[in-house]
Amino acid sequence: MPALIGLPGAARLEAVACPTSWCVVDHAVDRQVAVEDVDHYGAPAAWSVGSFLLPGVKVLELDVRLHADPSSEDPRLRDVHLVVSSDDALDAYLSPGMADAAGGLLIAQGLAMLEQARLAGGVVAAGD
Ligand SMILES: [Zn+2]
Repeated sequence: MPALIGLPGAARLEAVACPTSWCVVDHAVDRQVAVEDVDHYGAPAAWSVGSFLLPGVKVLELDVRLHADPSSEDPRLRDVHLVVSSDDALDAYLSPGMADAAGGLLIAQGLAMLEQARLAGGVVAAGD
């Protein structure tokens, strides 16, 4: 797959092997200064929540996607891992094992939210 490499106005397409079946980056248009800057990202799995006080506004957003940085000095970043991003300045980088554990906790959090939603709905219906 060609990748657009170089400074603005002087970039050219170079052959860069996208090593994954999951990368969704169009490297031919995602210009990087050097071949070493080419990262690979999967499609984001996004979750967001609004507020009845702010209709149409995403108050919290979270997305998770696969990532690999083949040129990184850190072997954990060279290996396929997950990146969890939100509005926070810091992203969370998770190994597959960490992501598996975090996903389990997220499922538990979702079940707790459903339970609280049903409780709130019952309270509202009862007029308490
Ligand atoms: Zn790629």
